[in-house]
Amino acid sequence: MMEVGIMVKSNIKNLTYEELERLLVDKGFPRYRANQIFKWIYKDVEEFEDMNNLPKDIINYLNDNFYIGIARVIDKQQSKDGTIKYLLGLEDNNAVECVLMKYKHGYSICISSQVGCRMNCSFCASTEGGLVRNLRSGEMIEEIMAVERESGIKISNIVIMGIGEPFDNYDEVMKFLRTINHRDGINIGMRHITISTSGLVPAIYKFADENLQCNLAISLHSAKDEIRNKLMPINRKYNIAELMKACDYYIEKTNRRITFEYALIDGINDSKEDAKALSRLLKGKLCHINLIPINPVKGNEYKRSELNSIKEFMKIIKDNGIPVTLRRELGTDIEGACGQLRKSYLNDSVN
Ligand code: SAH
Repeated sequence: MMEVGIMVKSNIKNLTYEELERLLVDKGFPRYRANQIFKWIYKDVEEFEDMNNLPKDIINYLNDNFYIGIARVIDKQQSKDGTIKYLLGLEDNNAVECVLMKYKHGYSICISSQVGCRMNCSFCASTEGGLVRNLRSGEMIEEIMAVERESGIKISNIVIMGIGEPFDNYDEVMKFLRTINHRDGINIGMRHITISTSGLVPAIYKFADENLQCNLAISLHSAKDEIRNKLMPINRKYNIAELMKACDYYIEKTNRRITFEYALIDGINDSKEDAKALSRLLKGKLCHINLIPINPVKGNEYKRSELNSIKEFMKIIKDNGIPVTLRRELGTDIEGACGQLRKSYLNDSVN
């Protein structure tokens, strides 16, 4: 951390409650100061000086070693349906997206977990340029705080379904969950948070053992290895059988329902036979299928399934007794598919 005379300050939002407490106690400050500081951070004060119940020596210590990381909104697109997509600038000039959506039960935000992604799913807009870097937990928290600050809205639900593969940034995502869930901070209940993964099998086992009440979604998109291999290269590393074993372990361990995401692509994974294969694979599991008409992305040829095929596909699943919903489409007029705003931003900067 320290080099000759140069102090490297770090973002205090990257610390969990426990880390902050341990640090202050180690430095000889009373434990309850951590509680005060944590509360101030998540009340969104921007300067340590504004934490007006702290003595000068702690404020000096904080100023010497930390800063309060803030993300800037560098672009914003509002859809006719009220969905707002934000492009946030990070301190190293990278950018990530998050999307604010209104539902019956309140506001939900879809956040990014990495700058870029290395999963290379063929239908996804976030893969261009590969993985740039992981987001720190404090940067993920800032996605929520920046949007609340900008919009004046209180967010009640989080889905980690933006840019990136959360299980490829496992430790920071776990720190993020624990911090955002803390009762003295933003305090969003674990049951109001969903992590979506492309199927990193070892991380699914690990996550099952965390014993969190957080929801898990698996991006499946096909019940057949030969199709899934083409759509999602991760399937060549962990195939469907291995993925299902991990899902069974998760369900047994947590007794929680898994959501399987299935993006319907015309002529690729939307036949009756595909629906039957999906039903055979998931029948009897504690799960729910979320069908998503694919969002067309510039640069690939995938088309949205016909309405009739979607209806037929859905009926086959229902007839097999598996709960299924068709995702309500929000924000398609504002390049709804994750990664597209950042992608056009990158292309603009290149051109
Ligand atoms: N990497 C994680 C989370 C980010 S992607 C994952 O794969 O689950 C969030 C969801 O959006 C995933 O289900 C992903 O497959 C889906 N998705 C990506 N591009 C899409 C597109 N063009 N249309 C519809 N869904 C898409």
